[in-house]
Amino acid sequence: MIEFEVPQEVVELRDRTRAFVDRELVPLEAAVGMGPPDPQLVAELRAKARAAGVYGPHLPRQYGGLEMDWRSVAVLFEAAGRSLLGPLAINGAAPDEGNMHLLHEVATAGQQERYLRPLAEGTIRSCFAMTEPPPGAGSDPSMLRTRASRTAHGWVIQGEKWFISGADGAAFAICMARTSDDPTGWRGATMFLVDATNPGMRVKHTIDTLDHATPGGHCAVVFDSCEVGDDAVLGEVDEGFRYAQLRLAPARLTHCMRWLGVATRALEIAIGYAAERSSFGRQLSEQQGVAFQLADAEIELHAARLMIWHTAWLLDHGQNARHESSMAKTFVAEAVFRTVDRALQVCGSLGVSNHIPLATFLRESRPFRIYDGPSEVHRMAIAARLFRRFRASGDKAT
Ligand SMILES: Cc1cc2nc3c(=O)[nH]c(=O)nc-3n(C[C@H](O)[C@H](O)[C@H](O)COP(=O)(O)OP(=O)(O)OC[C@H]3O[C@@H](n4cnc5c(N)ncnc54)[C@H](O)[C@@H]3O)c2cc1C
Repeated sequence: MIEFEVPQEVVELRDRTRAFVDRELVPLEAAVGMGPPDPQLVAELRAKARAAGVYGPHLPRQYGGLEMDWRSVAVLFEAAGRSLLGPLAINGAAPDEGNMHLLHEVATAGQQERYLRPLAEGTIRSCFAMTEPPPGAGSDPSMLRTRASRTAHGWVIQGEKWFISGADGAAFAICMARTSDDPTGWRGATMFLVDATNPGMRVKHTIDTLDHATPGGHCAVVFDSCEVGDDAVLGEVDEGFRYAQLRLAPARLTHCMRWLGVATRALEIAIGYAAERSSFGRQLSEQQGVAFQLADAEIELHAARLMIWHTAWLLDHGQNARHESSMAKTFVAEAVFRTVDRALQVCGSLGVSNHIPLATFLRESRPFRIYDGPSEVHRMAIAARLFRRFRASGDKAT
């Protein structure tokens, strides 16, 4: 049986989330501008989100969250994603949201108390440090070069990372480091919890990027003779790549949910503009060249939503959904960018101005086609699975 009905409780929460975004966040957007909101404002917005009952749909109840399943989170993150401030206000923004999921799944009780609780309560930020400058890990994580070696008291980490979102001001990093060699490169990595106060971890600089709205920016980070104890190991030694997958499938899907909210709002803005503005004796909405662009956007966003919901359903049923989350990530990242780009075009010069948020949406959404796996790498993985399936089935081409 295929069931698409959203439960009444989730419909009510969605409406409440949407009303919260429109009432509390959208009016602040112009004043916040291109950059991230300051931490004091984020704290105030989180207090308001709690008061409105929309804080932390993905978070366990013991940390003040709503503990919804992935299907419900999909609906609520889309509603919150209508404003770039929404995910921050409900504490569902990257990279903290993915890190919280990972800590919830893998961390010891002591690590959860020390790192997950304050993160979920929204009093600290975190970062996830995997990517390295060439020739280190990028699209291909098996090229990981940061190394952690055993010492008498624990481990010492040596290596360099870059494009680490939120590193500046983060209370801790989850750092991926190689702990044993493996000819394929795909085994022998470990995740370490490194406090920002550790003298061996240093944020070198913030990288100037196209997007500007992530608190703490995207940073180059150095681990230089960075000593940590055995209690810094997250999960099991040498199991880091497995945990990275555990983090990534839901994390890339929650990105899709949030960006779908942005794209939906972009489309609404374009519809509003086209319904009001005239040219050549007709409203823009009556110009087929405009109307078809909006129709195409609506078709793509509908398909994007269904892909997200289906993948969320698989996760709710205990499947890893690697194939589906790869397809959803690729499609949604591209559909979101096309939608925002079309909306901007329909709004003409106003679209590229800072009077409406479309230029910001375009800048902020573009990198989504690169992080959490570039589109090409997902296509490569999807195609590889197709051929594996074909060979395994023993089918012959006809
Ligand atoms: C805004 C932003 C935030 C980020 N945040 C984080 C973070 O918090 N933590 C973290 O660890 N990393 C982060 N990253 C890094 C991100 O995960 C990497 O950029 C991504 O994995 C790609 O690696 P790379 O940049 O080294 O690209 P490269 O590996 O150098 O690849 C460059 C391009 O080559 C193409 N390509 C690569 N392989 C293939 C292939 N097999 N087939 C066809 N084409 C291919 C793709 O188009 C790709 O974009 C962030 C990146 C950005 C842009």
